[in-house]
Amino acid sequence: MTQTILIIDDSPDIHQLLKVRLKNLDLALAHALSGAEGIVKAAEAQPDLILLDVHMPEASGFDVCRDLKAHSSTQDIPVIFLTGAADVDQKVLGFELGAVDYIQKPFDSAELNARVRAALRTKRFQDMLAQRAMIDGLTGLWNRTHFEMRLQDEVAATQRYDRPLSLIMLDVDHFKKLNDNHGHPFGDEVLQAVGEALADTARTSDWACRYGGEEFAVILRETNLEGALILAERLRKLIEGLTLRNKGQDVQVTASFGVSCSELCMNPLDFSRRWLITSADGALYAAKHAGRNRVRFAEQKATVPATETNVGDGI
Ligand code: GH3
Ligand code: MG
Ligand code: MG
Repeated sequence: MTQTILIIDDSPDIHQLLKVRLKNLDLALAHALSGAEGIVKAAEAQPDLILLDVHMPEASGFDVCRDLKAHSSTQDIPVIFLTGAADVDQKVLGFELGAVDYIQKPFDSAELNARVRAALRTKRFQDMLAQRAMIDGLTGLWNRTHFEMRLQDEVAATQRYDRPLSLIMLDVDHFKKLNDNHGHPFGDEVLQAVGEALADTARTSDWACRYGGEEFAVILRETNLEGALILAERLRKLIEGLTLRNKGQDVQVTASFGVSCSELCMNPLDFSRRWLITSADGALYAAKHAGRNRVRFAEQKATVPATETNVGDGI
């Protein structure tokens, strides 16, 4: 994927010069002519690297760097300072503020390229590690840690913009028996097949996660209860129809589903990540209790763990 560099410098000539000098690298460039503009663009564009001029008329490069490092949305973006003078104190201060490197003006083309490439390589590696830490090794879905973080963000966005948020939780039926009868490796294959079904069916804006063991969760942003139930039912049928074979024998797999939605929360003050998980989990429990391989949703009153009495029928 093409990486992006944001150049923050008050001199249009420097922008032009860097454009020419960096043209051999497969890069997208974004430009800002002041610190204030740069801070906004950094948060918006999420570049992979920032080249930041030290001397600017309003906010200095050091002020801008302090600001970037103080905000969670920009603090992980590497910064290379563009320094004019060969002033050691300035270079040291840059590193202390969290910069990864500096490049001295006037630019030496080879040095500029080498330093930029090294910083981008490190950034790519860091991104890969950060993503790996969020991915479940068996299924390739988002893991529990990422689920919790994502749901937290989505709940906050739901409260801010007043848009619906739904959560589907599902649990493979009689999975222990399946493991006992066919062996753990086959159980793992089943989990992978279920994971694939979720990944294939969810939209790119949805978050399909492995919640733990044989439990999965799908976060559905801007989705009302009706939409969530349609997806849950589609997933239920898909899992029921999976063709799994072990030692020449067909093995049927089913899962039970619990669905909850922000629309079901009567008191907006009650709405939280915990509310969503608890109500979806309660509905899942009811689906199990009602005979498994079915979808249930939490009822409006569900401010406490849903039980069979406050859980409605699925579609
Ligand atoms: P129910 O229909 O009520 O959900 O019954 P169940 O047997 O699926 O539920 P239970 O919670 O009793 O058993 C879950 C089993 O899942 C127990 C555990 O050994 C197995 N399990 C958990 N994680 C993994 C995994 O990563 N791979 C495999 N193969 N099995 C796992
Ligand atoms: Mg189970
Ligand atoms: Mg379970």
